[in-house]
Amino acid sequence: MTDVLIIGAGPAGSTAAAFLVQQGFKVLVLEKQRFPRFSVGESMLPASMHFIEKAGMMEAVMAASFQYKDGAVFHHNGKEHVFNFNQKFTPGYGFTFEVPRDTFDKILIDEAEKQGVEVRYEVEIIAADFTDGKPVVTARNKDGSTEVHKPRFVLDASGFGRTLPRLLNLEKPSDFPVRSALFTQVYDFIPSGAFDRQKILVTIHPERYDVWYWVIPFSNGRVSMGCVGPDDFLQKHQGTPEQRLWAAVAEVPSLKELLKNAKPANPVTEARGYSANVSSLHGPGWALLGNAAEFLDPVFSSGVCIAMKSADLASDVLGRQLRGETVDWEKEFSEPLKVGVETFRGFVEHWYDGGLAAIFFHPNKQEKIQRMICAVLAGYGWDRNNPYVGVGKRRLTALVEASRL
Ligand SMILES: Cc1cc2nc3c(=O)[nH]c(=O)nc-3n(C[C@H](O)[C@H](O)[C@H](O)COP(=O)(O)OP(=O)(O)OC[C@H]3O[C@@H](n4cnc5c(N)ncnc54)[C@H](O)[C@@H]3O)c2cc1C
Repeated sequence: MTDVLIIGAGPAGSTAAAFLVQQGFKVLVLEKQRFPRFSVGESMLPASMHFIEKAGMMEAVMAASFQYKDGAVFHHNGKEHVFNFNQKFTPGYGFTFEVPRDTFDKILIDEAEKQGVEVRYEVEIIAADFTDGKPVVTARNKDGSTEVHKPRFVLDASGFGRTLPRLLNLEKPSDFPVRSALFTQVYDFIPSGAFDRQKILVTIHPERYDVWYWVIPFSNGRVSMGCVGPDDFLQKHQGTPEQRLWAAVAEVPSLKELLKNAKPANPVTEARGYSANVSSLHGPGWALLGNAAEFLDPVFSSGVCIAMKSADLASDVLGRQLRGETVDWEKEFSEPLKVGVETFRGFVEHWYDGGLAAIFFHPNKQEKIQRMICAVLAGYGWDRNNPYVGVGKRRLTALVEASRL
């Protein structure tokens, strides 16, 4: 009998599967698509490296020759601020990678499979029932046939598919305004020295704090690039998605210059209204991981880190439950997960009101505070020793107000 059925083989699903199989459970991952498959979200955070290591996947990730990443650069109107992750306040990994997600996600799930997880592709979960806390899950195969699974527990790691939130009516609107992203990968042909390939580049629009651009360098001569903004900005440009993205880039002279030799590698994709929330992260017989639960915003590249943190917390609570212990999912899963999610939420809110730009570009920065901010940007959003971590953003707001003066 399957102990745990996991919906989806992205980073949340593959790491949760490894954490559970390592505890001796029988784990089945059902994935709708065939891997490798494209996914947006290519910039990792150093804090994720702890989960990759714990999942026993570090050697395979290290061997993949991904682009080394040790920081983030923020640009606005000729000003630049560089965060070096090795200067962060919180101890732990100070580097990570920029990864084409098709390759990265496949490495992680293949590693989970090598550890004993059963993985099946092109199988989509289409119905779920949890009467009396006993999961009954219906899956549809590629040929249209269906099958029913009765595992002891279900973890939904279906990302933007949001399978259980849809099927169990758990969806709740996000508090954030609707924003969209236009993004692609290009062969960048950026001359060597013009750009630090070991850092993600985030550029704020010259006139608007609510419009920003990412450039994420890979080790294969390509960069991922994208523009995020509200509808009134992204819809004002007419034409194909390609024309609209490049028109948005043309409004930022430094970025236009950096990408002047770029040649398309992928079509331009548009994602709209991706922020999402749910009324509960768990219930009898199920729990939600990663994006299936909540997605805040792409700006600080926190998506995969939160996904892996949720996998780590859930697999610990679930392991104990399956061994017969009484557990409290709210206190031991939801509440600890929310510490980091709320930390990032405060940062996202002050990103879009220009508050973080005031901190980043302030002429007299306090080194210790910068190191604390740097730790959160490196993904250490759960470190209670950092005063900028935790539920509520009072301290960050105070710093923003002081920096705006
Ligand atoms: C514009 C944009 C930019 C982003 N940039 C970054 C970034 O730089 N860094 C970062 O960390 N994050 C980023 N993110 C977020 C990141 O994409 C996600 O947080 C991350 O992929 C979540 O991982 P996951 O494992 O929860 O879900 P996913 O990676 O989405 O995996 C879910 C899997 O579930 C499968 N699935 C879905 N429905 C079903 C079903 N019914 N049955 C079976 N399988 C199913 C899917 O096929 C998929 O393979 C970005 C997001 C957006 C929108």
